[in-house]
Amino acid sequence: MFPEDIAPHIIPDPSGNLRYRCLGCEAEHSIEKLLYTCPDCGKVLLIEDGDFDRLKEIPGPVWRRIFDYRRMLKVPAMKGIYRYHEFIGPVLPLSSIVYLGEGHTPVVEANGLLQKKAGIRFFYKNDGQNPSASFKDRGMASAFSYINFLVNTGKVSDVLAICASTGDTSAAAALYAAYLKPHIKSAVLLPHKKVTPQQLSQPLGSGAAVFEIPGVFDDCMKVVEALADGYNVALLNSKNAWRILGQESYSYEIAQDFDYDMAGKVIVAPIGNAGNITAIMSGFLKFLEAGVIDSLPKIVGVQSEHANPVFQYYRETDPQKRRFQPVTVRPSVAQAAMIGNPVSMPRVIHLVDRYNAAAGRDRVFFVEVSEQAIMDWELTANHNGHIACTHGGESLAGLVAAMAAGRVSADETAIVDSTAHALKFAGFQDMYFTDSFPPEFGITPDPAIANTPELVRPDDLEAVPAPGAPLEGEAFDRFVNRTAEEIARRLNLKRL
Ligand SMILES: *Cc1c(COP(=O)(O)O)cnc(C)c1O
Ligand SMILES: [Zn+2]
Repeated sequence: MFPEDIAPHIIPDPSGNLRYRCLGCEAEHSIEKLLYTCPDCGKVLLIEDGDFDRLKEIPGPVWRRIFDYRRMLKVPAMKGIYRYHEFIGPVLPLSSIVYLGEGHTPVVEANGLLQKKAGIRFFYKNDGQNPSASFKDRGMASAFSYINFLVNTGKVSDVLAICASTGDTSAAAALYAAYLKPHIKSAVLLPHKKVTPQQLSQPLGSGAAVFEIPGVFDDCMKVVEALADGYNVALLNSKNAWRILGQESYSYEIAQDFDYDMAGKVIVAPIGNAGNITAIMSGFLKFLEAGVIDSLPKIVGVQSEHANPVFQYYRETDPQKRRFQPVTVRPSVAQAAMIGNPVSMPRVIHLVDRYNAAAGRDRVFFVEVSEQAIMDWELTANHNGHIACTHGGESLAGLVAAMAAGRVSADETAIVDSTAHALKFAGFQDMYFTDSFPPEFGITPDPAIANTPELVRPDDLEAVPAPGAPLEGEAFDRFVNRTAEEIARRLNLKRL
């Protein structure tokens, strides 16, 4: 079976000493209670493992083989993000882990034409191939596994999971909560008319209580925070540090998929509430510290010009002069990232400093891109065999912008995050194809990419079939032949 040095580590036992660490006053708090902000100073938290050093007792090359052998396991709890159990949720027994198929999303190399257009070798990591069709499932699997653990051990009961969302968080939260019925119920708050119909259908279909709130996401977030502060609810936004732990799996998977060789690699991801970029940095830092990887990849965080507070902050090159300023967002096709006051900003500031310090040079960069570039690159990617969502377009536009700014060079290899599935944002594709974007987006379709269906109904046909009224005999033959001829004419097909 498994080699002798690996076998004892294949199935992990609960271990570690997780605790919340406040990024404001540095206080530590027990994880026995669900906390979202520091009870002492109100600032955001991260979860640390007080016994992290025990992981260094296993040499990096052995960790790599442990993860590689774990790929062969048929234990559901170890099939998703908890392949990296010791780095994500070491205190959890496998019996509490909720696995709905999240994680281990495909890494797909861009085809030759697209790489040529972008001017660099790159891969998409398709996080839209998670169960609720976005990366948010990674964080939810972690947060809900922990809540499930609290339920199983009698520490909490009748949990109401609540979140504010630009669409995908609520889809993911509602899915995991529905799976854990009857112990957990969910309620989601969405900005009215600011999520796509596909995204709205998801929490509705999962049976969550769905509330639409006037305003934008930042307004919803304040209402949810008031609920979390004043009532007995479990907050599932990325303010919840358990979400960050689960999303670190994105980095671990990339490391493993590229044989733990991060030299010359560039990770590109969109930024909204900044939970994802936080997790990506934290994940690579933990793997570096444990010796699983020997160098840190470059990271490029991308924002739309219409929602760019993180980009604005880092535009100031003198760290002493940087001041965080929330922005008023404008409509964006990268709608899930349309956030002007990211909750995780203090985490970003903390981790960018740590990341650059650990690398010994600047390794995290931020770029902004236009709405036009987001749509053009999304559709160009999808024209070349990808399933990028608008945020996947934003990432690719960001890679191209980072190259133009000299942050990334053509001899590097990029891994570009498509954070959701294209289908969730089909409405924006439709606006592009029918040239019907409201003016505030500032998007003009490129006729070379626009695509609309053509109705084929030759004028000389007296009868065509209709639902419930099929054609028969000669009329049917004539319909088939004339329609085929018409399509052949439009496609310029040659007769055999
Ligand atoms: C949530 C989300 C983002 C933004 O991620 P943050 O962690 O909020 O920065 C980007 N793309 C999609 C599809 C999302 O659902
Ligand atoms: Zn504090």
